[in-house]
Amino acid sequence: MTGISDTLIIGGGIIGLLTARELVQTGQSVTVLERNNGAGLESSWAGGGILTPLYPWRYPESVTNLSVIGHKNYPKLADDLLQATGIDPEYVRSGHLVLDTEEYDQAKNWSKEFSRKVSQKDKTRFFTQIGSKEIARIEPELSENFLNAFWFPTIGQIRNPCMMKSLIKDLILKGVKIIPHACVDKINTDAGRVVSVETSKGKRSADNYLLAAGAWSASLLNETGVSLDVEPVRGQMILFKTEPGRMRRIIMNNGKYLIPRKDGHILAGSTLEYVGFNKEITDAAYQELWQAAVYMAPFLEHAPVVKQWAGLRPGSKDGIPTIDRHPDFENLVICSGHFRNGVILGLGSAQIAAELVNEPSSNKSKIDPEYPYSIM
Ligand SMILES: Cc1cc2nc3c(=O)[nH]c(=O)nc-3n(C[C@H](O)[C@H](O)[C@H](O)COP(=O)(O)OP(=O)(O)OC[C@H]3O[C@@H](n4cnc5c(N)ncnc54)[C@H](O)[C@@H]3O)c2cc1C
Repeated sequence: MTGISDTLIIGGGIIGLLTARELVQTGQSVTVLERNNGAGLESSWAGGGILTPLYPWRYPESVTNLSVIGHKNYPKLADDLLQATGIDPEYVRSGHLVLDTEEYDQAKNWSKEFSRKVSQKDKTRFFTQIGSKEIARIEPELSENFLNAFWFPTIGQIRNPCMMKSLIKDLILKGVKIIPHACVDKINTDAGRVVSVETSKGKRSADNYLLAAGAWSASLLNETGVSLDVEPVRGQMILFKTEPGRMRRIIMNNGKYLIPRKDGHILAGSTLEYVGFNKEITDAAYQELWQAAVYMAPFLEHAPVVKQWAGLRPGSKDGIPTIDRHPDFENLVICSGHFRNGVILGLGSAQIAAELVNEPSSNKSKIDPEYPYSIM
């Protein structure tokens, strides 16, 4: 048997890594076991990095509450990571234009509640409805078809691959061990506790365990007698290359979005496909994303598409993640099921997960019927 550490984290996606950061800051020693040849190469790499749920008013309050924490803390996190590592996660407060405006009352009520919870010092209005002139001023590249929009000027983005590289380097500098090619195949238990995990690199033990294996979490948990409602949901993206600064805002229309990066790349996403653990890209998705992108911003018709990819989101019911202690094994915490929003919800989730790991006696668990991230 090798390696004793306070906490072993299964899965090096954004959820496992942000929780590692919380834990190491409270003095824990942390090891992350990652199946791939590096951390942060699955959904957390593939995602768009929009720092709000899409159409956030459609989500339950438990999701809004986690996104409040993300909204408040991302600018500082990105800055801290840049200072510590020299790698810029490319946080940009791009603002977010939503071109579907049928749900005005819901959006307005949600925004009111959200800004109250954020209680930002910044007095920029969090939400306004705007007309075609203002749309053209805010994002001149948009099609003239759009007569109304919701405008969220304070919503930002990060660039996933940069964020993941920066976070990984920061953790290594803080003493977290990240072990690649360490696929956890089995969780060994005895007398109400997890005692070790079997990995492709041998057996490992710790005081505490955190399961943050994204779309793969449910199968590992199955053999511990718990069924987790998390399944893979494929999302495909295409990437346009344009000149830097040509577009600046995150745009959303009819379920599809455009995310302009600092260097002129523009992501167009994304599909929502229930096809199991299949990360293939398809021509049909390319066409769907390309057409939606060109409908929003006609100049993209002439821009080259330089990449297409797919990622597997950890899909869950209503997008509510499970952040809870295992009902039978007190030193196993589960943090998974962030579906379309793991980047923005990750910070709040990591805080809760770290608290559960650090305070085994905490009653935030399935035994509390009011607890919104319960495993039951
Ligand atoms: C196309 C797309 C667009 C998205 N856009 C956004 C967005 O704009 N904003 C937003 O907030 N969210 C977005 N998301 C969602 C977000 O990316 C996910 O919710 C988030 O990345 C989930 O993080 P995770 O750490 O749970 O999972 P993952 O990133 O998938 O990480 C899980 C890790 O666990 C590892 N693992 C699995 N099994 C094992 C094992 N047995 N042993 C060891 N390691 C294991 C995996 O290799 C992986 O590295 C998007 C996702 C996709 C696919």
